[in-house]
Amino acid sequence: MKYYDKLIFEISRPGRKGYELPKTDFGKDAFSEMPSQLMRGEEADLPEVSELDVVRHYTNLSNKNFGVDTGFYPLGSCTMKYNPKINEEVAAMPAFTSIHPLQDEKTIQGALELYWNLQHALANIAGLYEFTLNPYAGAHGELTGLMVMKQYHLANGDTKRTKVIVPDSAHGTNPASAMVAGLQVVEVKSKPNGSIDVEDLKPLLDDTVAGIMMTNPNTLGMFETEIMEIAKLVHEAGGLLYYDGANLNPLLGKVRPGDMGFDIMHINLHKTFSTPHGGGGPGSGPVGVTERLAKFLPNPKVKKNEDGSFTIITDENSLGSISTFLGNFGVMMRAYAYILTLGKENIRNVGPMATLNANYIKESLKDDYLLPIEGVCKHEFVFDGLKDKSTGVTTLNVAKRLLDYGFHAPTIYFPLLFHESMMIEPTETESLETLDEFIEVMHKVAAESREIPELVKDAPVTTLVRKLDETTAAKNPILTYRQLKAEQA
Ligand SMILES: *Cc1c(COP(=O)(O)O)cnc(C)c1O
Repeated sequence: MKYYDKLIFEISRPGRKGYELPKTDFGKDAFSEMPSQLMRGEEADLPEVSELDVVRHYTNLSNKNFGVDTGFYPLGSCTMKYNPKINEEVAAMPAFTSIHPLQDEKTIQGALELYWNLQHALANIAGLYEFTLNPYAGAHGELTGLMVMKQYHLANGDTKRTKVIVPDSAHGTNPASAMVAGLQVVEVKSKPNGSIDVEDLKPLLDDTVAGIMMTNPNTLGMFETEIMEIAKLVHEAGGLLYYDGANLNPLLGKVRPGDMGFDIMHINLHKTFSTPHGGGGPGSGPVGVTERLAKFLPNPKVKKNEDGSFTIITDENSLGSISTFLGNFGVMMRAYAYILTLGKENIRNVGPMATLNANYIKESLKDDYLLPIEGVCKHEFVFDGLKDKSTGVTTLNVAKRLLDYGFHAPTIYFPLLFHESMMIEPTETESLETLDEFIEVMHKVAAESREIPELVKDAPVTTLVRKLDETTAAKNPILTYRQLKAEQA
């Protein structure tokens, strides 16, 4: 163990400083006009450290982390693609980072133009009429989109429509967003191949249905071939179709949700459009709609005037505001840079490459891992654990063993359709060599499971921390140093 591994947290020493401010005559009097309730009553309890202590602390912590920049990250449904560094350079341009949302809009025309251009690029990609970029994440986009759906029915005086149909394979955020939007969730079954059972759907479609939430390709990575039929049935029943676009990557530039009959969708800029994600950091979940729903999109909105200038407007038909100002602007800049870097031509190659990579891994591993659904998948696929279940090695064990070999684990135990789900998504940005290394290690873990199962069950053995007690971590999370100190006291 290196000395700094022991120094993870308490490095504060009374009186140690990392800064020296110049003397100033801007004394305590300067605060005399500050309302007293806003004044700090006692000194802030901050760590006292030198600049070098802080630099080492964070650099060493970051070295213990795993990210797309350190290794292969086949986390299914999460589209952990490479985040091009040119995006960071663009997003760090002072002309953008030093502006304030409350500045006179005449002075932020460039920022508004970027918002407007990105909105229209997404509308083109999605085959929809208008986008809002205000939501902060995919789930936030879902909530916003469902609020649009609800607002639309209410505006039609259709107060009975409170049901949202969600497939049993859906991402957990779908039913959660529907509940938060004040709608009721009705589950529709999947067929053994993972696609929606149209016969199971038909009896659910009545005049209480607000709409259906779907993702295509579905959670098993399979394209819903009956989507046009489903869209017709839902529309005939007076409902709307919501597209969970977190899985748009394989269709990018090839197939448009609007053309499939979807009325509302969200896109995860932090998945499909290469902006960084993970750790709950800033994301962006733009929501697109058809023309008849555009007026309900949240405020504020960016409009282009006849003279080519841009204005921020508040639309009285809107469902209201769902974010501060116009959302996570830095994330939008990264996504816009990504779209412009690829251009119309290259954006079409993203989906086929992601699809090829996923099928390559799937076909290479299906002799060792149980493939419940045969056939060509899109950008991701699901194994139902190891093929040989006699050793008692679980999907969790395999996932932990992968960490020993320097790979991030795939998504595990999702979707809930299988007991030992292992959802693998390589994305288009990985090289053939990386895919081959991953395949080799997956075979090796399968062999270990047969020959020395205890080793796999004990994994990880080479990581800084061994297997964690996940129940306690979830039930009693200690997330701050202050909490830890209180716990130890
Ligand atoms: C990631 C994901 C979401 C949620 O996106 P967040 O930005 O994490 O809120 C929704 N649906 C699917 C299918 C996803 O993969």
